[in-house]
Amino acid sequence: MPKVYLFTDGNEDRLQLGNKGANLVTMTKLNLPVPPGFVVSLGAFAEYKRTGQLPMKEIEAALKALQRRMGKRLGDLMVSVRSSGPVSMPGMMDTVLNVKNEGHIISCIKAVFESADSARAVEYRRINNIPAEMAGTAAVIQAMVMGNADQRSGTGVAFTRNPNTGENSLFGEYLPVAQGEDVVSGRRTPMNIEAFRQQLPEAYAELNRIGHVLENHYKEMQDIEFTVERATLYMLQTRSGKRSGQAAVKIAVDMVKEGLISTEQALMRVTHTDLDALLHKRVDPSNTIKPLTKGLNAAPGAATGKVVFDVREAVEWAQRGPVILVRPETSPDDIVGIHAATGVLTSRGGLTSHAAIVTRAMGKACVCGASELNVDLGAQQFTVGGRVVKRGAEITIDGTTGNVYLGALPLVEAAIYGELDELLGWADQNRRLGVMANADTPEMIRQAIRFGAEGVGLLRTERQFNEPDELATIREFILADSPVHRSEALVKLRKMQRNDFVEIFKALDGRPVIIRLLDLPLHEFLPHEAVHDPGIRSRIEELQEVNPMMGHRGVRVGVTYPELYQMQIDAIADAKAAVSNANALIMIPQIITVQELLWVKKMVKDPSAKVGIMMETVRACMRADSLGSTAAFFSFGTNDLTQATYSFSREDVEKKFLPYYLDQGILMDNPFETIDVNGVGKLIETAVKSARKANPDLSIGVCGEHGGDPRSIHFFHNAGISYVSCSPFRVPIARLVAAQAALDEKDRLIRLTRDD
Ligand code: ADP
Ligand code: MG
Ligand code: MG
Repeated sequence: MPKVYLFTDGNEDRLQLGNKGANLVTMTKLNLPVPPGFVVSLGAFAEYKRTGQLPMKEIEAALKALQRRMGKRLGDLMVSVRSSGPVSMPGMMDTVLNVKNEGHIISCIKAVFESADSARAVEYRRINNIPAEMAGTAAVIQAMVMGNADQRSGTGVAFTRNPNTGENSLFGEYLPVAQGEDVVSGRRTPMNIEAFRQQLPEAYAELNRIGHVLENHYKEMQDIEFTVERATLYMLQTRSGKRSGQAAVKIAVDMVKEGLISTEQALMRVTHTDLDALLHKRVDPSNTIKPLTKGLNAAPGAATGKVVFDVREAVEWAQRGPVILVRPETSPDDIVGIHAATGVLTSRGGLTSHAAIVTRAMGKACVCGASELNVDLGAQQFTVGGRVVKRGAEITIDGTTGNVYLGALPLVEAAIYGELDELLGWADQNRRLGVMANADTPEMIRQAIRFGAEGVGLLRTERQFNEPDELATIREFILADSPVHRSEALVKLRKMQRNDFVEIFKALDGRPVIIRLLDLPLHEFLPHEAVHDPGIRSRIEELQEVNPMMGHRGVRVGVTYPELYQMQIDAIADAKAAVSNANALIMIPQIITVQELLWVKKMVKDPSAKVGIMMETVRACMRADSLGSTAAFFSFGTNDLTQATYSFSREDVEKKFLPYYLDQGILMDNPFETIDVNGVGKLIETAVKSARKANPDLSIGVCGEHGGDPRSIHFFHNAGISYVSCSPFRVPIARLVAAQAALDEKDRLIRLTRDD
C-alpha cells in the first residue's frame, strides 16, 4: 500500500489520509481552488511509531511532483505541514507554516506525528471519548498561499450556516493581512465576514458559491478555512461544522426541506446532547437588571456561577457549585477547566475562537471577545470600566445575547419551538417506544404535555401526603388511639386525595395516568424532631426500622393497613366520577408475589379499572409469568431494581465507594444513571420474555430515572419495552432517542456521524 498520496491521486480513504487530508482530496476533485499538496498516510504514522523511519523515497518523489506543479525550484517552494487525524480534534495537534528547506520539511512531519501523543491531545480524546485506535494522524504537506502578501490578502474561517442559530447564510470571520493561526488562536479579534464582502466582493462571492458546492456534496453544514492571496481565494480545509443544539435542529429540519437529506437522516443527526443544550436555561425575559458589559454571543444558553480564573481551580470549585471560567482567551490546555465550568467568558477572540468552538460543542454557555473586560490573571480579578470583579464573585453570562451581568440572575427553562416541534413530530412517527412522564403535580403534568409526553407513567402519591394538611391528617391516622379516630382521619384523607386527583385528571385531559399507591414506610411521615408525648414516642419507636429500604413499605403497608390503600383506591374512583374523560390506572409498588396483587385487587370495586404492578424486586422478575397473567401492566422501577440486584443502597454507595469503583474501572458506569445491561438488564429481559409468554399483549414500561437516559433507552427499545417514563425535561430527549433506536434497528448503516 502506498504511504504517500498526492491530492490529485483522488484517494479519499479517511483511515489513511485522515479527515483534513481526505477532504482536501475531495475538494480537489470538485475542482475547487486548493493549493496542491500530498498526504503522508496514517500507515506511515504507524510505521514511524514502530521503527522511527519515514517513507523517504515516496516523500521525495511527492515533493518533486509538487515543485514541478508549482514551477518552483528546490528551496523556493514554501509549504505547510499539517496534522490530519481520522477524528477531527481542532487545534489539538501541531501545524507548521512557511516551511522552506527539505530537511526542515522532514523534521516537521516528525513533529506533527509526535504531537498526536501530546498531553492536550490525550486529554481531548479522553473528554470526547475518542478511542485510542483513533489516536494517530497523517501529515498534510501543502504549498503555501500567502494571506499576508498585501492589503488584498488575508485569512478567514467561515461556516456555510450560522452555527449558533442555524440560519442559512454564510457566517464567519476574516482577518486581513494575516496567516491562518492568527484567527484560530483568538490572538487577534478578526472582523465580521460582512466586511470581507465589502472589501473583496468577488472573493466573497466565490466563497459563497463554494459553500453551496460543498454542502451539496457533503449534505452537511461545513466549517471552512480559507486564505486570500492577492484577491484570489484558496480553500485550505473543510469539515462538518460544530454547532449549537439550536443550530443542529434548525439545520437538520431545513436540510430536509431543501431536499438534501431525509427525515430519518435528520433524526439521526441531532444528538441528545444537542437537545440537552437546547433545553438550556435563559435569563428571565422580565429581568430589568442592566448588563455589566456585552461580548459576542458565542454559545447559547445562560449560566450563573462563581468567577474563577485558574483552570485547576475551576475543576476544584465546580464540585461545590457552578463556576464561570474567565480568561483573556482559552487554549487547548484549558479543556479540563472548560469541561468543569458551566460557562466561559473571554475578553479576546471571535466567534470562531477556541473558546467559542469548544463550548458550543459541549453545550455550555459562552460569551467571548468581551473587549471592555480587563482580565488580570495575576490579581485574580477582572475590571470593566471602574468596576472590579474578584475571584469567587457571582456573575451571569448569557451566551444567547452576549450579555454579562453581575450577580446570579433568575433563569427560566426552555420551551419547544417551531423546528424542534417539527423534528420531534418526525421522531414520534418513527419510534416504537411510548414516552410518558414522571410527574406528581398538575403543573409538572402540563409541562410534560407541552414537551410531548403521552401521559403520566408514574404519579407518586407521597407528594400529596407532604402537603401540610395531608401530612397532619396522615399523622392523625398513624397515631390514632381508637378505630373511630382512625376512620375520621381516613374520611378526611379520601376527600383531600380526591380533590387532588380531580386537578390531575383535568390537567391530563383524557391522557392516561398511572397512579402509584403509597410506597413510603409510615414512619417517614412522623416527626423527626424530639417528641415529648410518650405515647407518640413509643409509636415512632415501634415503626422505626433498621433498614427501611427493605422494610415495611410499598404493598406491605397496603396489606397490613388495608384501609389506607382502600382510601386511595376509593379517592381515585371518586375523582374519576367527577372528571368524565379521566383515564387512571392503579399501580402497586414493591410486589413480590401474585398473592399481594390479588389482595389489593379485591379492594378495587370497578371491574374495568386497570391494576398493574411495579417491577422492582428480584422475585417479581422471577415470577413474571404468574404476575404477567394477572396484572394489567408492568412498570419496571429500575432504581429500586438496581439497588436490589446489587444489594446497594444508592445514597450510601454514591457517597462512599462508587466513585472509586468507577475511577478504578471496577465498574464501567454508574448503574443508577445508565442501565446495567449485563445484570439488571438480564433480569428485565428474562422478565419481559416470560411475562409476554403468559400474556402477549401486556404493556411493559420503565419508570425509573433510566427511562430518560439515552443509552438505557436504546436497551429498552431492544428489550421490547412498551414505553419509558421520565422527568418532564427529558421527554423531548426520550422522544428523539426512541426514534433513533428504532431507526438504528431498521438500518444501522443509516447512522451518520456528524463530526466529519
Ligand atoms: P488545525 O487542524 O489546528 O485547524 P490547520 O492545519 O488547519 O490546523 O492549520 C491552521 C491554519 O493554518 C489554516 O486554517 C490556514 O489558515 C493555515 N494554513 C495551513 N496550511 C496553509 C497553507 N498551505 N497556506 C496558507 N495557510 C495555511
Ligand atoms: Mg484547520
Ligand atoms: Mg421504588
